[in-house]
Formats: sequence, structure tokens, C-alpha cells
Amino acid sequence: MTRRELHEKCAVFAIFDPAADAARAAYYSLYALQHRGQESSGIVTSDGRRLYRHTGMGLVSQVYQEEDLVALHGSIGIGHNRYSTSGGTTADHNQPIWNKEAKVAFAHNGNLPSTAALEAFLDQLGVEHADSNDSEMMAAAISYYVANGMDLAGAVERCYKYFTGAFACVAMDATQVVAFRDSCGIRPLSLAKTEKGWVVASETCAFDTIGAAFLREVQPGEMIIIDRHGLRSRQLAEPSLKLDIFEFVYFARPDSLLAGRRVGEVRRSLGVKMAAEHPIAADVVVPMPDSAIPAAVGFAHAAGLPFDHGLIKNRYIHRTFIQPGNALRQQSLHLKFNPVPEVLMGKRVVLVDDSIVRGNTTRKMIKMLYGAGAKSVSVLISSPPVKYPDFYGIDTPRQEDLIGAQKSVEEIRQDIGSDYLGYLSYNGMLEATHLPANQFSTSCFDGVYPIDIHERAAEVMALA
Ligand code: AMP
Repeated sequence: MTRRELHEKCAVFAIFDPAADAARAAYYSLYALQHRGQESSGIVTSDGRRLYRHTGMGLVSQVYQEEDLVALHGSIGIGHNRYSTSGGTTADHNQPIWNKEAKVAFAHNGNLPSTAALEAFLDQLGVEHADSNDSEMMAAAISYYVANGMDLAGAVERCYKYFTGAFACVAMDATQVVAFRDSCGIRPLSLAKTEKGWVVASETCAFDTIGAAFLREVQPGEMIIIDRHGLRSRQLAEPSLKLDIFEFVYFARPDSLLAGRRVGEVRRSLGVKMAAEHPIAADVVVPMPDSAIPAAVGFAHAAGLPFDHGLIKNRYIHRTFIQPGNALRQQSLHLKFNPVPEVLMGKRVVLVDDSIVRGNTTRKMIKMLYGAGAKSVSVLISSPPVKYPDFYGIDTPRQEDLIGAQKSVEEIRQDIGSDYLGYLSYNGMLEATHLPANQFSTSCFDGVYPIDIHERAAEVMALA
């Protein structure tokens, strides 16, 4: 597998709390952050002298046994859930990455579209990086400086400008934790207080799980350093917030706070906007479980239509998109959803979903709804068509596989086989956030990439 195929898009967590069992706090937090990555999970801890690591393939519930947590000593730690990749699965690239020589551990959420600068930097340092992915190269650069006597925060600062892309990272050595974010803050990262220390996590829902009190977000371009002297902050780059709007549309958990807004509330507003843009006659509004429930509630309420669960999801089969390979993905949709005939029979159904990527899910759901007796099916999508590939860490496919890049809305409607198809407008989506439009990256909708994607720009085809 080439390093291009192996992207890392994930959840990260860090804790520094003398009173805490770091492994257990990481475990429960990673459990809360499971939606951000289901392929593998890992925790590294420190007892102040040495590091301990456990990683494995699969869900958090499968990766850790009681004895694994017991063996992860100490009150300092970082953790990571990895999102699956279309290129395949392998345990070799599990995170946190542990550099044994430097005694440094590192975990990354995001993606560096170009690693040319980092590769040249590593070459200059004489650090081997063949077969390393972006995260491993970042860890190698930081570890080089620590192994040569620099402190961890200094090493991050020294390497920061070579990290050309989207990243929300945590790193640790035996005695301290650092957390840092790219200058656009494309991926989320937040800070919370425990009684005797601090925790950092990709999403605030992790804090509620372990009783930590949310303080604030790690700022774009900021590095936070936590050690026995307390918490310090250094601004490593001029901040220019460009949060990936897809976090609001789909990726983040509805109970998390992003840029001061509750994700579920924003999703409801997306639904309210849809009602204004697509006034349609219907008998029942059915959400795609679970991600589109808030948007469907908002839509149904604003449109004055009844809301019901016409599709039941097996909660123990996880996001089908996340499973690698097309054959598996198509099969797993049938394992995952079941229609409820009593809700659908003879009804004009509005199916609400958050996005259409390849179109496979929507096409199958429409068939299922007709199969269960729906009289008509209108599909409403709470975001505009996904037309451009992602380079910042959410693993949407290449542009040629995006149905929104290939077809008009009417062609997509015919392809998926619905009676009506309506997308929320770009402006409607932005207005629903109640945040300034210039604080978002909307690259998958408009092809504007706020962090330079360098040579990867050749993969993007301009569309009308
Ligand atoms: P598709 O079948 O490829 O059109 O996938 C669309 C479905 O996947 C929608 O129901 C979304 O909720 C979900 N989805 C959208 N983006 C992603 C993503 N980056 N990772 C996983 N699932 C996604």
C-alpha cells in the first residue's frame, strides 16, 4: 500500500491529570469518539518515567480488555481511533505512533495533501521515511529533534511549518502532553479541565463521558503544552479559522460543540432551511438513521409534517461507508437497515439524508422504501451536492466516484430512482450554522481549498 492510499482521519485524545487513570479516561473517551474512526484504536500512557502502548484493529470495545488497561500505567496519556481507508486495512499503521528512541508518542487527525516539504526536510535531517504515511513522517520529524535533546514542544515548533495540510494532533513524552492544530483549524480539537489536570479531545462529547468540563477549543495555529507546571500556550502560526463544514453536516456527533455551536442544533437548522427551500406535499418524514435524524426533525417541524422512523438501523453494524472495498459496502447496507412497512405503506414519503457521496446508500434506501409500500419517495439532502474530493481527512472518494461531480441533480434523481430530489443550497447550509461564512472550509462543495493542496490540485477537475 502506498502512503497516499493510507490516510489517517480519526479521533484524538490526550490527558494530563496526576489524579487520573489515564488509560481508563482514554478508553471511555475513545468510546465516545468511536464514530470518528472504527478501523483501529490505540492508547499510549506514561507513569512519568516510561511509556506503555496498546493498539489493535477494530472497535474500542474489541481492542481493549481489562488486562490491557491495567497494563497501561500512569496518569499521562494519548489515544487515537483510526478511520478506515479505501486502500485496505493494516495494523502496521496503528496510532498513536511510538518512537522508542525518542520516547515520544504521537497521534494525528487530518491529512497532509502534500508531504513534499516534509519529505525534503526529513531527507535533509537524514531521517528514513520510505513507506511512511503523513502522520508517521510528522512523528519522525518531531522525534528526531527530541532524540537530539530538544524538548517536545520545541521539537513541534521546529517542525510545524513542514506540516502542510490539515491536522489536529496530540503528542507526549514521559512527562508532558502537547496538542496542536493547523492554522485553519480544519479538524476540531477542544480542551477541558478535570479536577487536577486537563484533557484534549477531537470532540466535546468525550469530555461529558469522563466528567471533564469544557474550557475552549485549541485555537487554529495554537500549541498547548501541559506538564507538572500547568498549562501553557504558544501560537505557532497566524490563526485563520476554516473549520470543515462537513463536521457539521455529517462527521461530528450531534451532542458535540463546534465553534461554539451544538452540532445537532445546526443540523436541525439545516432541516428548517430545507423546508423553506423545498416545500413539498408528503404524508411522513423519514430520516436516514442516525446521522440525518436532527435535520429530519427540523424539516418535519418547519414543514408541519409528521415525523416517523421508517427505517430501522442495526446499531451494532457501523457506518457502512467505513468498510473498505465496494463489494463489502454494498452487502453491508442490507445488513444494516430494515424498513417498517406500517410507517411507509401507501404514504408519500420524504426521506431526509445528510449527503450523497457515491449514491449507493440513497439508491438502495429508495428501493427499500418502495419495497415496503411507499407510494412516492422524495429525497431531501441537508447539504449541497458533494462535487470535489477531500484532501483534509474525511476520506470521500476520488472526484470521478462522486455522483455530484458526474451528474446534474435531475440525472442523480433518475439514477437513484426517487420521485423528487432536493439539495439544500450552499447559502442555506452556511446560514444554518449561524456562524460567519468565512470561518468554514467548504471544499467538498465548491472546490476551494483553504490550505494549499500543492501537487494534488492536478486531481481536481473544475466544475460549473
Ligand atoms: P454514498 O452511498 O457513497 O452516497 O454515501 C452516502 C452516505 O454516507 C450518507 O448517508 C452519509 O450519511 C454517509 N457519509 C457521507 N460522507 C461520509 C464520509 N466521509 N464517511 C462516511 N460516511 C459518509
